[in-house]
Amino acid sequence: LEAKEEFSHKTRAMDVMRPRKNDPPLTVITQDSMTVEDVETIITKTTYSGYPVVVSRASQRLVGFVLRRDLIISIENARKKQDGIVSTSVICFTDYCPPLPPSSPSVLKLRSILDLSPFTVTDETPMEIVVDIFRKLGLRQCLVTHNGKLLGIITKKDVLKHIAQMANQDPNSILFN
Ligand code: ADP
Repeated sequence: LEAKEEFSHKTRAMDVMRPRKNDPPLTVITQDSMTVEDVETIITKTTYSGYPVVVSRASQRLVGFVLRRDLIISIENARKKQDGIVSTSVICFTDYCPPLPPSSPSVLKLRSILDLSPFTVTDETPMEIVVDIFRKLGLRQCLVTHNGKLLGIITKKDVLKHIAQMANQDPNSILFN
């Protein structure tokens, strides 16, 4: 009982990760069902540094993580240089891209820009451990899962804010490293 009590007031990954309770859901990209236009809309409407890639919205199974800047460059390049890439082209992050009907536009294969093993912790992981991992591995972000399903994200800045809150001081005054 004592041990449980001790654990219950410790901050866990789920307390620091985004989205928070009433926030809109995490912005994710699906591995083989979004079009160039869908992804361009995400890039325009959000400013996040990266997006988790999932099997499907329903499953929330994590496949990898893709950086915003890599997406922008790859889509721009493909639109300019790759024949048949248009707004309705499907973007595919999988190894094997399922064949589409002959009339559909070319598929844009983006597996090469996908980080296939982004760092993840479970939602119950104590923040002390998360902070330690960020410091030791020099992470920029870490994904949070529960029973293998993607739940949220913690960025380096989220960690810095958390440390500042713990110490009750200005986040910019903390030396991270
Ligand atoms: P930073 O934390 O350095 O500003 P971002 O711009 O990527 O980096 O993230 C801003 C905030 O949005 C952070 O609090 C982060 O947890 C959250 N966030 C990051 N990526 C996503 C995403 N794909 N969907 C929803 N929230 C995100």
